[in-house]
Amino acid sequence: MKKICVFCGSSPGANPAFAKAAAQLGREIAERKMELIYGGSTLGLMGELARTALKGGARVTAVMPKVFEDKVQHPKFVKLHIVDTMHQRKSMMFDLADAFIALPGGMGTFEEILEMVTWAQIGFHAKPCGILNICGYYDKLFAFLDNAVKERFIRPEHRDMLMCDVNPAGLFEQFSKYKAPKIDKWLDG
Ligand code: AMP
Repeated sequence: MKKICVFCGSSPGANPAFAKAAAQLGREIAERKMELIYGGSTLGLMGELARTALKGGARVTAVMPKVFEDKVQHPKFVKLHIVDTMHQRKSMMFDLADAFIALPGGMGTFEEILEMVTWAQIGFHAKPCGILNICGYYDKLFAFLDNAVKERFIRPEHRDMLMCDVNPAGLFEQFSKYKAPKIDKWLDG
């Protein structure tokens, strides 16, 4: 597992702990000699993550849709892919990465990490997916998913595909042990 795709807020969020966590993940990626794949913004947690990973000496690959291209000035050592659409971008980020992590974020972040898990549960890939749950930011999402299991829209095995930890080292440890469940997605009545 060398290439880690991170989804996170293009805003910094209200709690300074979020930016600290983005920096911690950037450092950890660099220390482990991993490559960061991310959405290319220099703003918010995305910017914090990329700057810290670069500072630590990590390879950073950014995948940007054309519409954002002129808004972002990247240092020349960031490998930049410019694509036409958001769909192409997510597909490229998926192809480039061995695993997916979400830090706190908004709509974009939720949509991106949940799509990776959606593809995993239909057996489209076996790459690990996890959330860094900083200061309980994702507690309500996990409660919501647990309720979806109770209501029989999600299998418990699929719910567990979305791993969770409070720090990067713990999440990487879980990733190293991850085996994608081989189980049908569909539940009856
Ligand atoms: P959000 O969580 O709504 O702030 O959206 C963050 C996610 O959407 C990131 O993981 C990016 O892939 C994408 N995204 C949102 N804003 C930008 C931006 N200004 N530049 C590049 N990607 C962005």
